[in-house]
Amino acid sequence: MQQFRWYPIYVVYSKARQEFMEQQIDRYAAGNDPGIFDWAQNVGRNSESIRPDKESPESRHYETTILNLLNKIESNKVGGLLLESLAPGSKIYIHPLTERTRHSDCYKCTGLTTWWEMTLKQGGGRRIAFSPELVKSDQTDDVLVHELMHAYRGESKMRARRGIGLQYPDGEEFIAHYIENMYRSAKGRADLEFSYYRHYAHASQFGTKSSIYHHIVENEREIFAFRFFLDSDPLCANLAKKSWPAFNPFRDFQILHRLSLNSKLTGEYPMTMEQVREFWPSFFTAVGPNDY
Ligand SMILES: [Zn+2]
Repeated sequence: MQQFRWYPIYVVYSKARQEFMEQQIDRYAAGNDPGIFDWAQNVGRNSESIRPDKESPESRHYETTILNLLNKIESNKVGGLLLESLAPGSKIYIHPLTERTRHSDCYKCTGLTTWWEMTLKQGGGRRIAFSPELVKSDQTDDVLVHELMHAYRGESKMRARRGIGLQYPDGEEFIAHYIENMYRSAKGRADLEFSYYRHYAHASQFGTKSSIYHHIVENEREIFAFRFFLDSDPLCANLAKKSWPAFNPFRDFQILHRLSLNSKLTGEYPMTMEQVREFWPSFFTAVGPNDY
């Protein structure tokens, strides 16, 4: 197990232990003792996932790869601010994402974060299951930033649970997605990921700052979601004050907000200000975590 500098992040290679526990779970599932099955699912699996395997070339390779990615993230302005924003008290463990977990707990995802604090029996801390080899090689750090954002948000008392349009199952995916894009922009990339569920919302995988800003302006729920995060999340409020990166909807929020409102008052079927107030009161008042 390796700590990343002074950050509360610990890298642990536990693939063999996790896979062994998964086999046990399958055996217990076939047996007739629901107690041991529940224990293995809820306690065994989670406590084993942060116990390191015996050291091997694979374990050293995993640790080095993850630490290199974390170094890369730290040297990025957005990534560095995210790491600085992590509360020192609560540990975040990064361990491999097994094939079985990937298919049973999420739909072939490339990373899976448990944002809440595990119990002492489960080994404590928050968890990021992540195997870089599952991700396209030039996006491994982007995906890790996305998962770290989920872990960071776990400290927040304000969860953003509601979906946003068809593109985001909840506000937490929305914010992880946008932070990932801001990180990418800070790397100097102009090709940004369009949206989280792109097949519902938008045909193309990649967009530019301008095409994504257009999309935000046309989707008032995204405006409300940005305002919720600006009002309630210290990292987002902090990012709003920065001149970087080029793609920064927090810094540009007032403009996006005004354009979004204007688009309702003009356009093909213009509304009156009274109608806008009636339909979308959130344009004018702060929104709560479940209001959009
Ligand atoms: Zn996510």
